[in-house]
Amino acid sequence: MKRGRLFILSGPSGVGKGTVRARLFERVSGLVYSISCTTRKPRKGEVDGVQYRFLDEGTFESYVKENLFLEWARVHGHFYGTLLADVESELCRGNNIVLEIDVQGALQVKEKMPDSVMVFLMPPSLEELEKRLVSRGTEENETMKTRLQNASAEVALSGCYDYAVVNDEVDRAADELAGIFQKEISKSKGSADE
Ligand code: 5GP
Repeated sequence: MKRGRLFILSGPSGVGKGTVRARLFERVSGLVYSISCTTRKPRKGEVDGVQYRFLDEGTFESYVKENLFLEWARVHGHFYGTLLADVESELCRGNNIVLEIDVQGALQVKEKMPDSVMVFLMPPSLEELEKRLVSRGTEENETMKTRLQNASAEVALSGCYDYAVVNDEVDRAADELAGIFQKEISKSKGSADE
């Protein structure tokens, strides 16, 4: 069976990754979302094993020592990581998997799996990003400051990505993203026939 493709979706906090991803999944069938591990506390409404696997720092560190992560990073003061076994089992089954991870993690994955496709979701401007983060209302003042400070550094690294999509309007951005995914998926189907 042909291995699935691995897609990475990154972008600064508040850019709308979750919303655009949901619309992307409506447009492209058969995508699997990779559920990350994190040491940050669940937000209201988040359920363990759905949005994230919520771990304490000790457990996260033991996973790092046992080399269980494909990638991991400290982001906005907490640890986040993708379990290698989860990704491998989907790819081996021929499924296309989507990792919604930060820039540091994305670069680790690209080094280990060079044929992964990296897409960066850009805000129309940093001012607009701040407005979205404020109106989302999920962060305390301090964490919001950290997230905004990190945003410009993340945007500066977007040049390392294969594609950049501006989230100026959710459906337009989702259409553009879907086009990229379809193209990359059909490319790998093509190479299977060669
Ligand atoms: P949030 O706390 O808002 O859910 O996520 C904060 C940041 O952590 C986002 O940029 C998100 O993409 C990133 N992130 C989520 N899961 C992972 C992961 O498994 N690895 C890495 N490196 N970053 C992650």
